[in-house]
Formats: sequence, C-alpha cells, structure tokens
Amino acid sequence: MNTIFPKVKKNALPSTESSLKVKNLIDKLYDNEVLDNDEYLFILNNITNKDTDYLFKKGNEKKQVYYGNKVYLRGLIEISNYCKMGCKYCGINYKVDTVERYRLTVDKILKCCEEGYKLGYRTFVIQAGEDSYYTDERLKGMLDQIKAKYPDTRITLSLGERSKESFKALYEAGADRYLLRHETASRRLYEHIHPSFMSFDNRRLCLDNLKEIGYQVGGGFMVGSPTQTNEDLVMDLEYLKELDPHMVGIGPYLCHSDTELAGNMSGTLTETLIMVALVRMILPKSLLPATTALGSLHAIGREKALKVGANVMMPNISPTENRDKYEIYQNKICTTDTSDQCRNCIEARIVGVGHEIDLGVGDYIDFERKEK
Ligand code: SF4
Repeated sequence: MNTIFPKVKKNALPSTESSLKVKNLIDKLYDNEVLDNDEYLFILNNITNKDTDYLFKKGNEKKQVYYGNKVYLRGLIEISNYCKMGCKYCGINYKVDTVERYRLTVDKILKCCEEGYKLGYRTFVIQAGEDSYYTDERLKGMLDQIKAKYPDTRITLSLGERSKESFKALYEAGADRYLLRHETASRRLYEHIHPSFMSFDNRRLCLDNLKEIGYQVGGGFMVGSPTQTNEDLVMDLEYLKELDPHMVGIGPYLCHSDTELAGNMSGTLTETLIMVALVRMILPKSLLPATTALGSLHAIGREKALKVGANVMMPNISPTENRDKYEIYQNKICTTDTSDQCRNCIEARIVGVGHEIDLGVGDYIDFERKEK
C-alpha cells in the first residue's frame, strides 16, 4: 500500500477496505468536526495518494461554508532577527553565528506600514525572534503610532513567549491578534527539538493567557519534524480542538544546515497539505495561512494549500535589504522582491487558482474584541 506517512501498521487492512474506512472517517470528520484519536491515527496510518484527493476536496468544501473563496492578505514585517531562544530547527536561534543580525527602528516599521497600507493591506503582522530589546514600553510606543496613523487596521504580534502582564499591556495598547505556534503538542517531541531551558508547559500557558485576555490567537505546528510520529500529529489535532484558536499556522519542517538538526529530512508538501485539510475540518471557522514555508518547499505549495482549506496569505513588506536575514529556514522565497512586486505576484497566484482577494481586516468570523 502506497501510504503518505511512513508509519504503516503491519496489520493494515487490505487497501480497498482501508481506503473505504479512510473515506468514511473523512465524511464523519466533515459532519462532526471531531474524531477520536484512534480515528485520526487510522487516517494518518492508512491514507494513500488516492484518498488525499477526497480529503482535499472535503477540506476545500468546508472552507466554503464560512469563507467562500476569499483569501485575506496580511502585510508581514519582520522587525528583528535577534532571538534569545534556542529552537534547534531555527536558523536565527541565538547559537547560530552565520546570520547577520538586524533590528528595525520604529520609523522603519512605520515606513513599512505606510507601504503596506498603500498596497491595500489592513492587517500588519509584526514578527521577530524573542528579542529583549522590545520592552513593553517600546512596543506600546510602536503600537500607539501605528494605530494613530492607521486606525482602520488590525495589528498581529508574533514576538514569542511573554508574561501575562506583558500580553495584557500590549493588548490594551491596541494589539489585536497574537501568533504563537505551539510547534508540537507532544511533550517528547517538544523536548527533542528544543533545549532544556525552553518549556513545553510555558508555551501552552502563554496560549491560554492570550485567549483569556481577548486576543485572536494563533497556534500551529510543524509537519515532518525529526522523530515526529503519526501519534504526535494526532496530539496536535486533539490539542487544537481543545485550544480552539482563531488562527492556525501549519508549515513543513525545513531543515537548516547551520542548526543542531542539520542533516535531517524536511517535511513534505503532501503531509503538510493533509494536516491543513484536517485542521480546516476540525476548526472550520479558523483563519489558516498558506504559509511561506510551503511556498519555499514547492513552487505552487501555497496555491495547493488554498485549494485544500487555507484562506490567508502573508506577503512580506519588510525592507528588502533585511529579508534574507530572517532566515528561519533556508531557500526562503520572496526575499528579493519589493513589496509591490510581492503584492502583484500573490494576487496573480490567488486569482490563478480561482480564489479572490479580500482586503478587509479579515477578523475571525463572529469575533468581538473585549473592551479594555
Ligand atoms: S523559532 Fe522563534 S523563538 Fe525559536 S529560535 Fe527561531 S525565532 Fe527564536
């Protein structure tokens, strides 16, 4: 049997019987928006290339229920590649000495917002490594200025783990959304791909705190991380259902040769698309990006993600001279294009697969911001 994921049980059912069961489970997931863990595992252990066509069709159908063919655009600004953390897969972790570090001033960040606003973006995603330079005071100053100039926008922060007080202060200063991928819901795998000073429990606590404060919250995970099993992926699905985030970033693990995990196999396009389609059915209202990592793995990886359930894209509006330094993984796309080239390229890609751009703020459906 030609299964997608490598771990196939020795006692697997004959292929037609197993294919029928996979299809039935996909239908059950479509209807109920949840499965038992052993049912998720059956899908992952047995899904074949033929079955993926059906899964992808159902993922796309589920997206139509709330979002139709709309794709929301977010202008991504990578404000600093300094990071005090040591994620073993990441090309800008503090140990990597082959990367030139940079940090944008507030004036430069505002310039990026100005360009992004002119291109039609109404969400700015402010992303950095965990850089202690960005104190609450500095970030509050930045948020004040962006919100004063562009009151009709949303600001998404992606700045790593912070204290609950800090998250609260930034929310009160105008931040709307926070992306913090959980990376993996398996403690064993988390501890394998992170150094001992990083805490699986604290990451989850941060996500709980962000939800409690009132942010639109983004979790997410990597597919194909070294030693990841299908059981680990099932834990991701179970955890996401429980967390019920507004956004989910799902990208392939992409091996970086200057990290501790150098030499490992990267995740694959098909595995990642399968997880996107499953998450679309588990969290039908979620905002699911067609990630840049997927576009870096395959020339039309993002378009394929849109066709199985994704509904967000994040064109880069960082200064072109800094883009290749934000090298979480190697061979990242869109590092040399100007912001308006990125805008045109992305629009063509979206329209090319029968989708349409939505330049609104693109909040999670039903979302209402808590009062300060
Ligand atoms: S993944 Fe994020 S937190 Fe981890 S080392 Fe890279 S930039 Fe830092």
